[in-house]
Amino acid sequence: MDIAMYEGELLNITSELSRYEESEKERVIDKFKKAAEKKAMTCPYCHEQLLLRAGEIRDIHFAHLSGKTCQESRAYDTYNRQTARESQKHNVIKEIIYNELKGQELIRPDLKVEYGYKEKATEKWSQYPDIYVNKNGREFAVSIITNVHQIGDQKVVKAINSRNKYFAGKGLETIWFVEDRELADDYERRVLHLWEAEYGLAIKTEEDHKWDKLLQELYDEFPEYNLYTLFGYKAHGTMKSDVRSLYYVHTVGDEITFSVYRLILDQMRSPFRAFALTKGYRMNISQALVIRDEILLSDKDQEDRNRTEFANQVLLQINTIQREASLRDQHTDADNEQMENGYNYSELTRQTIKEAAATTAYSPDFDVVASIANLKILTIVPYEVESLYWFLKRHKDELGDYGLTWLEVKKWVLYALGRVNDPNIRKWLVDIEEIR
Ligand SMILES: [Zn+2]
Repeated sequence: MDIAMYEGELLNITSELSRYEESEKERVIDKFKKAAEKKAMTCPYCHEQLLLRAGEIRDIHFAHLSGKTCQESRAYDTYNRQTARESQKHNVIKEIIYNELKGQELIRPDLKVEYGYKEKATEKWSQYPDIYVNKNGREFAVSIITNVHQIGDQKVVKAINSRNKYFAGKGLETIWFVEDRELADDYERRVLHLWEAEYGLAIKTEEDHKWDKLLQELYDEFPEYNLYTLFGYKAHGTMKSDVRSLYYVHTVGDEITFSVYRLILDQMRSPFRAFALTKGYRMNISQALVIRDEILLSDKDQEDRNRTEFANQVLLQINTIQREASLRDQHTDADNEQMENGYNYSELTRQTIKEAAATTAYSPDFDVVASIANLKILTIVPYEVESLYWFLKRHKDELGDYGLTWLEVKKWVLYALGRVNDPNIRKWLVDIEEIR
C-alpha cells in the first residue's frame, strides 16, 4: 500500500518522495522508516500500525505487521493495480464525479455512494468499480476509462469486457465514462469511429430504450426502407437495431463536462464504427449526474427534441425517394406517349425541343424545392431538371417565395455540373447556367 496516516494526515509515500532530489530520497525514507517503527504510521482503514518497507525505491510501500493485513488495504492494492494503466486525469475525473454524487447522498436517504474498493473490500472482489452507487437497492458500477487506445487495443478490450462481465455477475449495472481524447465523430456521414474497446463501453440507459421504441415505430411504418441506407451510412453488414449510448468526459483544469452520443454499433470488425443517431450534446456535471431511478446521464428535453428531429429526417428522406420515383414514372409515361404519337425528338433541333417544351411548360405539380434538394444530392432526373429549367427561366424572381435565392440555385447547378455525367441532365444544367 502506498498510503498511511501520519501526524493526522494521509501520506502517500510515492508522491511524497517525488518532491525530493534523488540524492535526498534515501535520507527521507530512513526518516519515515524510523517514525513507522515508533508507531507513527497507521493504516487509514483499520488504524493498526504500518511499517515502511523499502528494498528498491520503486517498491517502497507500507505494510501491516505480519498476519495483520486488513481487507480494505488489500482491496486498495487490488484497485491500484487495476488502475495503474490509467492517465493522471483518471483520478481527477473520479474525484469530481465522486464528490458530485456524494453531495446528492446527503439529500437522498435511499442513495449510497462509496469508492468501489471500500464498499466491496469485505467481499474480496478481484476488480472494483471506481465508484459504487446504490439507489434504492439498484446497484451501479461507475467506471472511468482513459488511455483506451493504449497497450495494444486487445488488452484493453479484454480488461473492459472482463470488468463488464464481472460487475454484471455481481448484479451491478455498469456506467462508463470515456476520456474525451478518444472521441472521433463524423456526424455528416452519421459515423462514430471507435476503438474496438469502445464497443464494450456503450451502455444501455432508459433513454436508449425510448430510442429503441421510436426506431421500432419507424420500422413498422416503413418496413421497405433501411434506416442506415436512408442516411447514407454504409453498414458493414446486417446491424442489430439496439440503441446504446457512449459518455465522454472532457476536463478543463478541475472542471469536467460530459457529452452524450446515441448510436447503433456496427458489426464488430475493423474499422470499428457505429451509426450516429444524434449529433451528441454536452452537459455539465450537475445535469448529467442527477439521480432518479438511475443516473440520468441525459437532458430529457434535448432527447425528446433529438428523437423528433430524427423522425423528421427519416420522413424527409423517404419523401424525397418517393417523389423521385414518381417523377421517374411520369417521365416514362411521357416517353410512351411520344412513341404512340410518333413524336420524334431526333428530327428536331435542340432549340425546337425547347420551344415545344415551352408551350407545355413544366408539370403543374413540379416542386422546385424538391428539385433543388435532389440537385444537392445528385439524384435529380432528366425530366426534373428540364422542368427546373423552364421554371427558372420564367420565375427565377419568385425563388424567394420558396426560401431560395438565385445565387444559391446557381451554386448547386455548378456543383452538379462538376459531378453529373448524364448528358441528358448536363445540357439542362448548362442552359440554367446561361439564364440571365
Ligand atoms: Zn489496515
